[in-house]
Amino acid sequence: MDNQEVIKKKIAILGSTGSIGTQALEVIEEHSDKFQVEVLTANRNADLLIEQAIKFKPNAVVIVDESRFEEVSEKLWKHDIKTFTGETALAQVVEMEDVNIVLTALVGYAGLLPTIKAIKAKKNIALANKETLVVAGELITKLAAENGVAILPVDSEHGAIFQCLTGEVQNKIEKIYLTASGGPFRGRKSDELKNITKEQALKHPNWEMGAKITIDSATLMNKGLEVIEAKWLFNLKPEQIDVIVHPQSIIHSIVQFEDGSMKAQMGLPDMKHPIQYALSFPYRFTSKSPRFNFMDYPQLTFEQPDKETFLNLALAYEAMEKGGNAACVLNAANEITVEAFLNDEIKFLEIAEINQKCMEEIPFIKTPTYEDYVSTNAQAREFAKSLI
Ligand code: NDP
Repeated sequence: MDNQEVIKKKIAILGSTGSIGTQALEVIEEHSDKFQVEVLTANRNADLLIEQAIKFKPNAVVIVDESRFEEVSEKLWKHDIKTFTGETALAQVVEMEDVNIVLTALVGYAGLLPTIKAIKAKKNIALANKETLVVAGELITKLAAENGVAILPVDSEHGAIFQCLTGEVQNKIEKIYLTASGGPFRGRKSDELKNITKEQALKHPNWEMGAKITIDSATLMNKGLEVIEAKWLFNLKPEQIDVIVHPQSIIHSIVQFEDGSMKAQMGLPDMKHPIQYALSFPYRFTSKSPRFNFMDYPQLTFEQPDKETFLNLALAYEAMEKGGNAACVLNAANEITVEAFLNDEIKFLEIAEINQKCMEEIPFIKTPTYEDYVSTNAQAREFAKSLI
């Protein structure tokens, strides 16, 4: 089928005012003949949400923060755009009949319930919100299979693996290598990280992202979350997932098959690429993004990650191997510690130290239900707060 014949996909973007959300809108604008915005949501950035809604004319918007609702609805009613507020509305809006695909571009545990609702309503998911799979990967992948829903990865590493696997359905994966830039503190040891400020941690060498994921990249928790995300997305065993530090961020990840052959996906670091592929799959649409030039990168280099200094990566492997609610505990603790670090309440190294204490203290549940995830999340958050 020619790309031109593809029916316009109607998209709900959860978290449209963030880094992924705004880049997704740029992709949609570049391909307005193929994509249509159906729903936009934000937490509290009412000004940007209003601006986006007037430009993209969705059917509905949600502003989660109720104190910003009046302003949003006053500005949008004359444009014939439905406006809602609150967490319940966020979880319900994904069920709207016309929505074909839900891009989960919000941060953290808040993505879990809307993703569950979207899957139950049989909407395909373009998943940026990795925390959802980290917290409840078993539940989410089972639900997706039961409902015949595709989970299309937006994360660049998982998008790379996904592209390498296209056309390989019948072939077993021996191993995958998730590449990591190493973050701004690559090569440093713990005693050099004691007094890191948030301003230093917020400067990522290769990617422009939201604050939470930028701190997660500096502590290597982001790579840890991605390891768990990969386990669920590609149905892998922990020993099949390796991390390799590749500071140039040109190779986005690699699959090694049973015959030893390796497929890698590469290109300039640009989130618009994996966002567009998740939305356009199974097709590839054109892109105006700059092209890779080999002579700008005559050397691509690789290193082992330092799991001793960057304890969060080791904790994520531990949580993945343990299974049950362990990754939910780690994620909840990490959301609290990252926020505390951004508020200057704890030091950089305390992020992982507190995360580790939470993993030691919160009771383990081998086969958690949705309710268990909810209570584990609450308990781990409370405990992490008590240590700050
Ligand atoms: P941002 O912080 O830039 O944006 C987050 C978005 O979610 C905003 O629209 C924000 O609204 C909204 N939001 C935040 N908290 C809540 C909440 N509690 N309830 C509802 N909405 C909320 O994040 P990013 O775009 O960087 O990241 C989004 C997700 O994508 C994360 O899970 C991240 O790990 C993942 N990801 C991001 C990448 C990137 O390059 N940025 C790369 C790969 C994955 P408001 O603006 O009103 O606060």
